[in-house]
Amino acid sequence: MAVLQTKGVHPSLAVIIVGDDPASRIYVNNKKKACEYIGIRSEEYALPGNTTQEELLTLIETLNESNIDGILCQLPLPSHLDEKAVINAIRPDKDVDAFHPVNVGKIMIGDYDFLPCTPAGVMELIKESGISIVGKECVVIGRSNIVGKPMSMLLLHAHGTVTICHSKTRDLAETVRQADIVVAAVGVPELITGDMIKEGAVVIDVGMNRLPNGKLVGDVAFDAAIEKASAITPVPGGVGPMTIAMLMKNTVKASLLHQELK
Ligand code: NAD
Repeated sequence: MAVLQTKGVHPSLAVIIVGDDPASRIYVNNKKKACEYIGIRSEEYALPGNTTQEELLTLIETLNESNIDGILCQLPLPSHLDEKAVINAIRPDKDVDAFHPVNVGKIMIGDYDFLPCTPAGVMELIKESGISIVGKECVVIGRSNIVGKPMSMLLLHAHGTVTICHSKTRDLAETVRQADIVVAAVGVPELITGDMIKEGAVVIDVGMNRLPNGKLVGDVAFDAAIEKASAITPVPGGVGPMTIAMLMKNTVKASLLHQELK
């Protein structure tokens, strides 16, 4: 960061949080801490739970016109707010979550400025571990717009043969058993059991599920899966920190983009 700063690049991030969801508060605090750690200026906009759609959109409009580089609105929003309208309101060149339809479309064609943070973090983990994706059977479990779908697209761009499983998949266990690379992004504690993992498979667990006893677990039964996997990510401490690292990367990239536009 020091090198960038000597070149006049001072990345900045606005983080909007609406209401008092405890999980969202933890995520926002972690993101702010990461900004502080690497030298990104962060501004928090903590709005009350009864904020109106108009008030939220007005704030985003103000931030769009300001000199802030990145804008992040922590999801989920309280149910009276329209998430789609909020995502669409953030200027694509400041959309460091890469949720705006323009950025989603760019990812589809493989010509993008920003990648969504969680799938990008997974790709980085695979790459940094020296694991090749080319020609591998990749099974992604989950088809959400923020994880499953972009994850599948990135694995496809990296020349994997990709299968997407979801809540209506007929035989999840048998499909996962074919996988050289498994990415679980479901939100169901330990849905992926050890017997579903092929010997030597790479297992990436995106899931973050809080059990009634307060313990945080993934979508994969870790203790059983580690017996079969050649590489596996833990929960917590696996994909989560990578997601935040990728948010930092996107914010720096936004700042560089804005620098070029000046
Ligand atoms: P989501 O609820 O939007 O999507 C879940 C997906 O799982 C859906 O597409 C659904 O079809 C599929 N699904 C549900 N039940 C299934 C079943 N029985 N079999 C197969 N598929 C099933 O969730 P999301 O936002 O994509 O998040 C998924 C998980 O990842 C959650 O636990 C979330 O907390 C976690 N997450 C972690 C990070 C991180 O940084 N580590 C980031 C985002 C999300």
